[in-house]
Amino acid sequence: MGKESYEFIDLSLEKKLKKGLEDRESKIKAIPFKVCSKCGETKLIFKFASDKRNSDKHMGVCRACRSEQSLEYYYEHKEAILIKVEEYRRTHKIDRSIYFQNYQRDHKKQLKKIAKAWYKKNKKAIKKRALEYHENNKEYCQFIRELWRIKNKEKIKKYNREYHLEKADLK
Ligand SMILES: [Zn+2]
Repeated sequence: MGKESYEFIDLSLEKKLKKGLEDRESKIKAIPFKVCSKCGETKLIFKFASDKRNSDKHMGVCRACRSEQSLEYYYEHKEAILIKVEEYRRTHKIDRSIYFQNYQRDHKKQLKKIAKAWYKKNKKAIKKRALEYHENNKEYCQFIRELWRIKNKEKIKKYNREYHLEKADLK
């Protein structure tokens, strides 16, 4: 009896080991390899970037060759690329600023309303913060006010003149 059971255990163990070996082998076989069309090296499939258009869903050129190619391309066409990038940035910046200008123009009333409501809601906090800021940055605030006065000298003069004229008219 005892001998039989030993045999049974050995058999199942052997089967297990065999199966494990077979699994490993089939797994190794399942890992596909591909030959790079540029460097000609046989590489593991994950060394190739994916490409849905290709039948095996991977690019023909390996990642290493691709990055080399794109670097080469970049250095060869550096100036043209930089010009294109700059152009794109410029045109899109203009588009965006025009969009915002138009938006502000078309929604003037709404935006004013929103701003007013926001101010009303946060009045206390805004005033408190401004006061605190002023207290903590007295010299800087004075400096800014002085700068503003110098910059707007003519405007202030004109305003004062008009103000006095109006006052004189009322008398
Ligand atoms: Zn390659």
